[in-house]
Amino acid sequence: MKLRTLVTAVSLLVTSQFAFADRFADVQINSATLAKDIYMLTGAGGNMAAVTTADSVLLIDSQYVELADKIRAKLKTLSPGELTTLINTHMHGDHVGGNAALAANADIIAHVNVLTRLRNDSNFNPAGLPKTTFDKVLNIKHGNIELMLEPMPASHTDGDILVWFPQFNIVHMGDLMFQGRFPYIDFGNGGNVQQYIENTRYVLQRIDDNTQVIPGHGDLTNKAGLAKELKMMEQTMAQVVAWRAEGLTEQQMIDRGLGEQFNAWHWNFITEARWIKTLYQATQP
Ligand SMILES: [Zn+2]
Repeated sequence: MKLRTLVTAVSLLVTSQFAFADRFADVQINSATLAKDIYMLTGAGGNMAAVTTADSVLLIDSQYVELADKIRAKLKTLSPGELTTLINTHMHGDHVGGNAALAANADIIAHVNVLTRLRNDSNFNPAGLPKTTFDKVLNIKHGNIELMLEPMPASHTDGDILVWFPQFNIVHMGDLMFQGRFPYIDFGNGGNVQQYIENTRYVLQRIDDNTQVIPGHGDLTNKAGLAKELKMMEQTMAQVVAWRAEGLTEQQMIDRGLGEQFNAWHWNFITEARWIKTLYQATQP
């Protein structure tokens, strides 16, 4: 190996290791105002929301522990108050990773199945475990702002909730919506594609053209965006059902592909092949 090649190889190695260690270095936490004292926050991982009063903050989801300082700093720009309440939309690491770092002294509210699953996860810091759990609709208030926490039948996981802001026509869907991309169905934690589609229909019946929809991932959206997602799921599901009737194997389905009209839904986590596998598994006779 020539010296120059060796130097290049070594520097590439160093660069890639550094990039891995520092994967959150460039992440910024941004906020968008959805209504007075209600914000959507983005960084890396699941979209968050915050509700503020002059002396307290309620947060929905906590992204990753590595981002806790940045999240805390962003919240300070919205209200000088302490974080008093954290709601988790479900149990995935990109939604609960910052729980202990941000909210060890706050109330942490989640579906009872979130507590069960996180308690069984030896890597999860117990200081971040939910303290208030529920499995039926729970209404709470932060300042004058009402929140309705609604558990949904198992679909993304078995502990998903919708967080409604009935006074403001806003809903945080957690990972019951992936805006503009194939959704992740976590079969190992109770996921179910047919129910995910049912849950999407359920939400569509309860919102109107002015509803602001916070998805678990992707941009702030609305009823039209959710309807588009539903149509994609219905069409791709119908395709896999038809292929099954033709007798295609999973690999043959992946080789055929869903077609150009679905290219835009493909992303690094749920690729087109992974979505086809998800639908294949969901349509097991
Ligand atoms: Zn998730």
